[in-house]
Amino acid sequence: MTAAASDPDCVFCKIIAGDLPCKKVYEDEELLAFHDIAPGAPVHFLILPKVHLESMLHVDEGHQALLGRILGLAPRLAMEQGCNPYPDGGFRIMVNTGLEGGQEVAHLHFHVMGGARSWKKGQAN
Ligand code: AMP
Ligand code: ZN
Repeated sequence: MTAAASDPDCVFCKIIAGDLPCKKVYEDEELLAFHDIAPGAPVHFLILPKVHLESMLHVDEGHQALLGRILGLAPRLAMEQGCNPYPDGGFRIMVNTGLEGGQEVAHLHFHVMGGARSWKKGQAN
């Protein structure tokens, strides 16, 4: 499935374009990471591809390297952002997909959540 490079109506595309602000965690040519505006954990940021790809159900074989890069980056950023060391610390990676999957923003994003626990298992945000 081909993804449009950008969707003018997409809030995350607007952030990527610099038209809306974010608290940036990381940026390179393909990826952007920023803090969730409504954090559900002491550390809560999102990693997303810059290309407008709606969800995990819009991913195909051509996106494997991109997804691999996101997963490869997540542990480093999680620790840089204050997640506690393994095994007592750690973090969660979560990708909500579709309405029944709890997805609110239709631009693929990986939640990275961690920090001292008061937040609940399975909580979306
Ligand atoms: P999801 O429910 O998986 O689609 O998650 C969307 C997430 O994006 C939620 O946790 C929101 O708090 C977060 N979010 C929405 N708008 C913004 C924004 N402008 N900046 C940062 N995070 C946002
Ligand atoms: Zn988008």
